[in-house]
Amino acid sequence: MTAATSPSRIGAIGRTCAGPRLDIDLAAVAANTRLFAARTPAALMAVVKADGFGHGSVEVARTALAHGASWLGVTSLAEAESLRDAGLTAPVLSWLNSMDADWETAMRRRVDVAVPGLGHLTSVVRAAASTGLIARIHLHADTGMARDGAPPEEWDRMCRLAAVAQRDGWVRVVGVMGHLARADHGPDATGRAAFERFLASAWAAGVRAPVRHLAATSATLTDPAAHHDLCRVGAGLVGIDPSGTVRLRPALRLSAPVVAVRVVAPGTGVGYGHTHVTSHRTGLATLPLGYADGIPRAAAGRGEVLVHGRRCRIVGAVSMDQTTVDVGGLPVGLGDEVVVFGPGDEGEPTPADWADWAATIAHEIVTGIGPRVRRRWHTAPAAIVRSWA
Ligand SMILES: *Cc1c(COP(=O)(O)O)cnc(C)c1O
Repeated sequence: MTAATSPSRIGAIGRTCAGPRLDIDLAAVAANTRLFAARTPAALMAVVKADGFGHGSVEVARTALAHGASWLGVTSLAEAESLRDAGLTAPVLSWLNSMDADWETAMRRRVDVAVPGLGHLTSVVRAAASTGLIARIHLHADTGMARDGAPPEEWDRMCRLAAVAQRDGWVRVVGVMGHLARADHGPDATGRAAFERFLASAWAAGVRAPVRHLAATSATLTDPAAHHDLCRVGAGLVGIDPSGTVRLRPALRLSAPVVAVRVVAPGTGVGYGHTHVTSHRTGLATLPLGYADGIPRAAAGRGEVLVHGRRCRIVGAVSMDQTTVDVGGLPVGLGDEVVVFGPGDEGEPTPADWADWAATIAHEIVTGIGPRVRRRWHTAPAAIVRSWA
């Protein structure tokens, strides 16, 4: 082994760490939440589906509620229940459930549910009638996604039935909601106009829903006419701006220790299939993170990590559990910390960079970090650095 790859400690520039680790900066979530709350007079819903976009649903929810959000949003009832289990009492809306979901639990735990069609509405009303509980519902209109929500031809009947069910005391129609398909590159005027038509026919059918909501992150930032009574913001709270109009603070830092180092000769094949062959004598460092941990295989040969303050490229195929980094002549030792991504302050790549390298979006990068990676939540950004041993 040469001096360049000696595992001996290298003083001030080296930080060591014990294992792969995801540091979550709740101060960033707090700052992002405040930015969104200041952008609209409407109420703010923190969308914490998919474990808070990979940042911890309960932690993100608590932080957002303390900094301007007043609602929580999730897809499944199971996600809503875990928020209630954690003691959160804010209004929670769950918008993606099968027709035979456990509506009784939703009612008992005071979880609002979205109703995307007549079948769901009938099923919810039946559950209310058989338990004597009142279901809090949001009528969900398909404003252009062709994915979820009731189409126009079903809308009027659904609204009339909902109005009757409310009069009879089975449901409380809390909201009418839509979701914009094309809000990332400026206002989605078509989707917005569709929502206005759904609102008008709901009103004509006798629905008096106090909470009308349509906007997610992009429309909250770029289209005030879409705000209505409530904005549902997910990506933005964790630092992702699909509209590209503001500077939000990314909240994740993914790092791992070097677990193997070697110096190899020119012509050395690296990893499965030898998809990379070294062109010169160089140092290779192995990270204990692979595609099962969220390192996208598609980023092979393009992705970069930060090693002792320098960008180094990943080479060869990304394995399930390991990734190889070409560290050139850098003095790298076993246990040295490598930063895969972070907010970018130290020159490390961001989730947006990884998204570019893997031809995807930052959402997929941050929600894809596997369960083997240890999570640590911080309420002050400096604590992330200080807590390194
Ligand atoms: C995920 C989701 C949101 C949040 O979208 P962002 O762009 O992440 O803010 C809002 N509404 C619905 C229906 C969603 O599925």
